[in-house]
Amino acid sequence: MANEKETVKRDLIILGSGPAGLSAAIYAARAELNPLVLTGMTLHGQVSTTDTIENYPGFPEGVGGTELGQLFQTQAERFGAEFEMDYATSVDLSRKPIVIESYGKRYECKSLIITTGADPRKLGIPGEKESTGKGVSYCGTCDGWFFKGKDIVVVGGGDSALEEGLFLTRFANTVTIIHRRDELRAGAILRKRALENPKIKFIWDTVVTEIMGEDAVTAVKLKNVKTGEEKVHQTDGIFIFIGNIPNSDLFKGQVEMDATGYVVTNGLMETSIPGVFAAGEITDPHFRQVITSAGMGAVAAIQATHYLENLEA
Ligand code: NAP
Repeated sequence: MANEKETVKRDLIILGSGPAGLSAAIYAARAELNPLVLTGMTLHGQVSTTDTIENYPGFPEGVGGTELGQLFQTQAERFGAEFEMDYATSVDLSRKPIVIESYGKRYECKSLIITTGADPRKLGIPGEKESTGKGVSYCGTCDGWFFKGKDIVVVGGGDSALEEGLFLTRFANTVTIIHRRDELRAGAILRKRALENPKIKFIWDTVVTEIMGEDAVTAVKLKNVKTGEEKVHQTDGIFIFIGNIPNSDLFKGQVEMDATGYVVTNGLMETSIPGVFAAGEITDPHFRQVITSAGMGAVAAIQATHYLENLEA
């Protein structure tokens, strides 16, 4: 048929090219599996949008996110991993070989490692996109250091907002937590710690409607959801922790997920389907660090290697 898609067949395919996928590619390539990485839309995932990573071991002066992603890829390619700038539009996990379709190609594999990640949920307000990296952040561990002695705000009332808000008190002069209700969603221990921390203040029943500042954030516009009152609050930065969205739509109904869409894995990074592994933020709502994702990627690749060996035995 003239319109039939080209079919690419591999023992192992890795979906996603963030630290989990890249690390899996290094380990799988060194096991001579000749893995194919479908990079997804954002080559190297969230690290590619992180300015400097200062907590990845081996880089005492820090390393640029783009540089680290490229170093991972170069290392994987050195051992034979291949990268395809392609984006899966559908996946069929119900049969072997597993079938992945993109707009232009069809891929078949015996084993699959899902590392499609998660994205921080955005507020979607004026100034947010423009000031990302210039005072708007979604990662306290990554960017807190840049706010030494500054006054910052944190948006959200869940565990992440409080945990990160508490972490940020190590650097910031004050941390003002802005929450849309008057009751925190976070668990009791974090609630107690945050409420007792002298550096943390709260603004309740309030949403941020605009982020202001030209080259750096200078203020946020706030609206009280009960009274409708609006005011401008001066700040040096805004950290947004209103949840994350796992990129798992492709796999819904096919593999076990929790109620929020994270793919469920055991300690060996196995999913509910034999031969299908998951690693990194697609399976991790808690840690969300380059090193933890990379570690999970390594485990997934080692287990995929065992799985493929057993198929041949
Ligand atoms: P989360 O529990 O979904 O909390 C998100 C918070 O952001 C909620 O307070 C929510 O308000 C608020 N929010 C959502 N959309 C908003 C919007 N558009 N504008 C303003 N506020 C908005 O997310 P999370 O805190 O990232 O936690 C995710 C999961 O990881 C949870 O299961 C959590 O328990 C877990 N986690 C655990 C730990 C820990 O145990 N140490 C640490 C981090 C995360 P409402 O409360 O009004 O809905």
